[in-house]
Amino acid sequence: MADDLLPRAAALFLRAAELGRDFRAGLDERAVFPRDLDPGAVRAALGELPDGPADPAAVLDQLREAVEPALVASAGPRYFGFVTGGSLEAAAAADVLTTAWDQNGFNALTSPAAALVEEVAGGWLKDLLGLPPTASFGFVTGAQGGNTVGLAAARHAVLERHGWDVERLGLHGAPRVRIVAGSGRHATIDRALRLLGFGTDALAEVPTAPSGSIDVAALAGALSTSDAPTIVCLQAGEVNTGAFDDFRTAIAAAHARGAWVHVDGAFGLWAAASPRLRHLTEGVAEADSWATDGHKWLNVPYDSGYAFCAHPAAHAAATSYTAAYLVGDRPETLRSPGDFVPDSSRRARGFTTWAALRQLGRAGVAELVERSCALARRFAARLSEAGAEVVNDVVLNQVLVGFGDHTPQVLEAVQRSGECWMGGTVWRGRRLMRVSVSNWRTTEADVDRSVAAILAAWREVQGR
Ligand SMILES: *Cc1c(COP(=O)(O)O)cnc(C)c1O
Repeated sequence: MADDLLPRAAALFLRAAELGRDFRAGLDERAVFPRDLDPGAVRAALGELPDGPADPAAVLDQLREAVEPALVASAGPRYFGFVTGGSLEAAAAADVLTTAWDQNGFNALTSPAAALVEEVAGGWLKDLLGLPPTASFGFVTGAQGGNTVGLAAARHAVLERHGWDVERLGLHGAPRVRIVAGSGRHATIDRALRLLGFGTDALAEVPTAPSGSIDVAALAGALSTSDAPTIVCLQAGEVNTGAFDDFRTAIAAAHARGAWVHVDGAFGLWAAASPRLRHLTEGVAEADSWATDGHKWLNVPYDSGYAFCAHPAAHAAATSYTAAYLVGDRPETLRSPGDFVPDSSRRARGFTTWAALRQLGRAGVAELVERSCALARRFAARLSEAGAEVVNDVVLNQVLVGFGDHTPQVLEAVQRSGECWMGGTVWRGRRLMRVSVSNWRTTEADVDRSVAAILAAWREVQGR
């Protein structure tokens, strides 16, 4: 049996790659969201916990058959839900290698390859996004991870300035930290506040302008009312409208009060990679920490995000640790990825990011971002020509659309059509369709086909 173990493993790996290839080749034509999903059938196909082993090849086949009816074509060109990237060819293929290599990305001893690739790719990211070359960075699981790490570094720094060592003493008895954030912040900020022990009551919420940007006058007002240690959360790319905060003004006001500024730029920070759109992020490099995603607009496979920090010592103070078994683990020249993330043993996330950036290059990233925005404007133009109401100023890749009194029904019919998929939202009290263009595969023809599906759904609903 040992003799045919290796050929069998090789065959299985190739089989997995083939199945993956077939799925990806069919993305264009399969229903974007499963039709007639039967969760019970999927559960039954997955079966009960078996008493004994199975043939690995049969395991793969069973898995594929069981989940096939429940797969979403979110990697395909007509998925416009949430803010969702596909995965670029080189990045997806590098992800297969990441699995094969099975490196532990913790530090330079567990994998020099993982450490070196993150070091190089992290430098490229800072360059592309216009962040300070001296900033520290961590490859995290997403913008949730990036926001949590950024706010952990902030917690360290603002309390240190008040003579409080939060890593040693915790928050019990510490000066109360104030978190100032816009009402349009992403919910992951609130979760980070809970996880970090600030509590959501620490939030001083500032109203946003009609566009979704933070009201900078109100922000300045909120900052002047207290001398407490303060963290200001700003945003590049509001999840509904794509709006940007006025970083230049807001950061200056925050820094004048000694506050730390964290920027959630999950998708919007990528505007900085485009010469045409960079102006939207004007001043963002003055912040203290930033979070962004790889798996959204960079089109890197899940799970991939980045935390950056202008103060590497604060960053490492919040996230690094040492232990007896780690002594001697740090060759002077190799960066230790695990010092900048909340994980220890971890996937070597740098490989896919490096591959995406290498495939696209500077010009390719700019083109991807600009093309997505042009396609979002195409959506807006076509839908408003047909009588729908485009509610936001389409400054980026997000479009908010209303269909009179019928928006929830239109949305439901579109989602059911399998032609394309977009989510809903509530914006300024109104239920709307939310369209996000973030996938490298999406073409003008995909937008036109999706608009046709939306208009057909609208007609269907009106005819009921
Ligand atoms: C998506 C998003 C997040 C959360 O990112 P994850 O990658 O899902 O963790 C945070 N902030 C904004 C603005 C987002 O769009």
